[in-house]
Amino acid sequence: YGAGGGYGAQQGYSEERSSARRVADHYSARSNQTLEERENSPIIHLKKLNNWIKSVLIQLYARPGDCVLDLACGKGGDLIKWDKAKVGYYVGVDIAEGSIKDCMTRYNGDTDQQRRKKFSFPARLICTDCYEARLDEYLYEDAPFDICSCQFALHYSWSTEARARQALANVSALLRPGGIFIGTMPDANVIIKRLRESEGLEFGNSVYWISFGEEYAEKKFPASRPFGIKYKFHLEDAVDCPEWVVPFHLFKLLAEEYDLELVLMKNFHEFVHEYLKKPEFTELMRRLGALGDGRQDQSTLSQDEWEVSYLYLAFVLRKRGQPPTQ
Ligand code: SAM
Repeated sequence: YGAGGGYGAQQGYSEERSSARRVADHYSARSNQTLEERENSPIIHLKKLNNWIKSVLIQLYARPGDCVLDLACGKGGDLIKWDKAKVGYYVGVDIAEGSIKDCMTRYNGDTDQQRRKKFSFPARLICTDCYEARLDEYLYEDAPFDICSCQFALHYSWSTEARARQALANVSALLRPGGIFIGTMPDANVIIKRLRESEGLEFGNSVYWISFGEEYAEKKFPASRPFGIKYKFHLEDAVDCPEWVVPFHLFKLLAEEYDLELVLMKNFHEFVHEYLKKPEFTELMRRLGALGDGRQDQSTLSQDEWEVSYLYLAFVLRKRGQPPTQ
């Protein structure tokens, strides 16, 4: 990595577009599950654990009345979490048309699973590529935001340097000084370690597999080419599409170029161990049922699901500058 860019050859623009489209089509095609289908999912406890981690991040960093930007919001699975945090306004953006439609249905309380009171905050939903579009042009009337969230999606921006930069430029342009950026994404250190421990270019267990192409046969990743390191990711009942490695130390340096300073980075295992000690989050875990009785073990999460959670990390960044005085 070197300041100012220039990281070797970029992929062709159209190839890039089609990769983003593949990701979008994959998520667009995923239909809403019934409650029964969800409870029977082989990764139901992992999904609950992921929801617990996102809830903890939101409870730690969102404040009542906050203006929220949810990048790659998907089907709006976090709307209830934001409602519990009593936020004042919500903008969700996603590239997948199908997901934005489902998100709108969920916001309007129209689904069977969603027989609940309406959300207490107004919302706006936008369908676009968050890593290509200049979001400040769409959102100049809504900005600045107090908090931005990008859950399980920022790695889709690391296919090229231009996209990774556009992602961070969008966050930086739209957050107020002192605003917070929370997120979750794959932990490149763990993925590369697992790859090097495996015999071939594939590894996984009963619920996931990751596969690298022959171009990585030597399992070497030169620091001069940190973008576009593609692998295929399959997670039962969830994901089946190309993803990109995000070397975290370079992500941190790149974010600094956009005035975003690192506050926290924890692998999910460390995150669980640390925050499960806090009574309010133990109680939340008990209610969600991810770890059975809320003990710090895997009493209901299977060993294979627990291994998948080790592939992820949570991060928090803060936009430089002083928050405006109230
Ligand atoms: N954030 C949601 C959550 O936690 O439930 C959804 C996570 S899902 C694993 C990843 C999401 O990223 C999908 O909804 C997908 O459409 C979205 N996504 C991928 N690439 C994107 C892009 N370039 N711009 C906007 N959204 C994107």
